[in-house]
Amino acid sequence: MAATPNPTPRHYRVVVVGGGLAGLAAARLLHDHYHADADADADAHAHKAQVLLLEAAPTLGGRIQHVTGLAPWPVEIGPEFIHGTMNSSFKDIADQMGCEMRELPYPDRYYLGSERRMLSSDEVQEHEDIQRVHEYFQGIASEDPDAPDISMAEYLQRRGANDTITQLAESIYANDFGCSLKQLGVRECIQEAQNWIYGDTYLILDRPMSSVVDFIAKGLKVRLDWFVQHVEYGTHGVKLQSSDGRIVTADYVILAVPVSILQYGVPTFKPPLPKVKVEAIDSIGMNNCVKVLMAFSDRFWPEDMFDVVCTHCFLPEFWMTHYPTTFSHTDEQAALGKFVVVGFMTGEVAAAASKLPEAEVISKSLRQLDEIFGDLPKTVEDCEYSACCHGTKAISSFKELHLGPGKRHKVLTRDHLHIDVCGSAECARSRPASTWFQGGSVVNWEQESFVRGGYTYPSVNAHGARSILAAPLEKRVFFAGEATHPGVNPCMQAAIDTGRRAARQILSLEVLSRL
Ligand SMILES: Cc1cc2nc3c(=O)[nH]c(=O)nc-3n(C[C@H](O)[C@H](O)[C@H](O)COP(=O)(O)OP(=O)(O)OC[C@H]3O[C@@H](n4cnc5c(N)ncnc54)[C@H](O)[C@@H]3O)c2cc1C
Repeated sequence: MAATPNPTPRHYRVVVVGGGLAGLAAARLLHDHYHADADADADAHAHKAQVLLLEAAPTLGGRIQHVTGLAPWPVEIGPEFIHGTMNSSFKDIADQMGCEMRELPYPDRYYLGSERRMLSSDEVQEHEDIQRVHEYFQGIASEDPDAPDISMAEYLQRRGANDTITQLAESIYANDFGCSLKQLGVRECIQEAQNWIYGDTYLILDRPMSSVVDFIAKGLKVRLDWFVQHVEYGTHGVKLQSSDGRIVTADYVILAVPVSILQYGVPTFKPPLPKVKVEAIDSIGMNNCVKVLMAFSDRFWPEDMFDVVCTHCFLPEFWMTHYPTTFSHTDEQAALGKFVVVGFMTGEVAAAASKLPEAEVISKSLRQLDEIFGDLPKTVEDCEYSACCHGTKAISSFKELHLGPGKRHKVLTRDHLHIDVCGSAECARSRPASTWFQGGSVVNWEQESFVRGGYTYPSVNAHGARSILAAPLEKRVFFAGEATHPGVNPCMQAAIDTGRRAARQILSLEVLSRL
């Protein structure tokens, strides 16, 4: 039911909408700038609480979220890796906080599902198709950025890529980009490759990503559960209305909501957004992203294994998380398992998986891990155990894990899945994943109402759209968020950079207006 609008809405200098990294970075920069100004000029103290951050969810962080209780450490359901060691604003903040980071190669291992074979590092070096895939994607930076746009599927086909190369490209690159090769646009890939200044390795933080969120948010004026439904803007300023009728006004607004929310038609605008902006919003692709979190009581993979990309498999990629962390662990006894494998699916693969019952998604994932790490027979015909395990039963109830204020997260334990393993040493050898499985959860990002997807991908026919989306309106409405990064970078550092960009645009305008 609509609440009565506040009669005299509070006016702010800047309202930031969206408490993900982009919005937080914008609010932080403006808050610090106005505070420094006010400290230098005692008369300006009136300006102190002039920045307000409005967030629809009950918590800050946006896509940064974790679950506790699955493992003895918080398991991230959103971003987990800092991409690259160089030029990263996210890493700079983590350094400032004194975080330790572990550097890992990507990709680490390759599993060829059609041959049921994990390749050794020597085999990877000698595997012509794998090397060709990397050459195609690394060489894209030198392609003509002004050539007519095509999909990466067509690009590879024109270069005579065989089936194995295409499959490898789907699992290694397209899945990581968040789409399929058919959706991946060459022109935005060129843009991305030319602007990637961060390096190729992955960094793992020694604490949950949310500690960075807390660090950035310290001292900011924030309103949670404030869903911005409508924005009115003009030369006079901005008026924002929440879904329950509350109103605030401001000189400027920074919209740092995911592009998927704008595509959904929220917030509404008066006057309506210009056609060119709407077209830009619609052309930037953002698919679903599904994470399958599986907790185990024992490790059944080599200790130095970190990440596996797989062809011809249910999960195109999975990784092992076991973080040596300075973060105080939750009680080991209370955690479902001591080891965690995370399956990662995006694009059409995620869309197909999200139509399946969660029990089936977990069963299929376990089956894949059993196939890779167990000594199951090579063919179904040879399989004397085929009637034995991986059936999926209807689920009667879920264990609920704490996710954050106001949120619960469903977890399927062994009792909810029909895992028929006898517990013998032989069975554990052939089906280690099924044997040691303790519980799992399927995280479907499309169902997160204020995000509605994973992250944006280099999209066919979207070249230039991100800069159009980023352009301010009437010098009053500013845009931030990973989708507005002109370098087609959907990572955490990009979100921070876009927030800071929008904040600086406002500060420059204020300087100009004083001249
Ligand atoms: C599963 C997954 C894995 C990822 N892995 C990585 C990784 O390993 N490394 C990496 O660098 N990046 C990764 N990313 C991408 C990274 O999470 C994003 O680029 C980044 O967090 C985006 O920040 P943002 O501020 O642009 O958007 P968000 O974090 O989505 O923030 C937007 C905020 O706006 C709020 N909002 C929406 N609508 C409204 C409204 N109408 N009113 C008020 N508030 C609203 C939302 O609740 C949200 O808090 C991953 C993302 C996902 C989903």
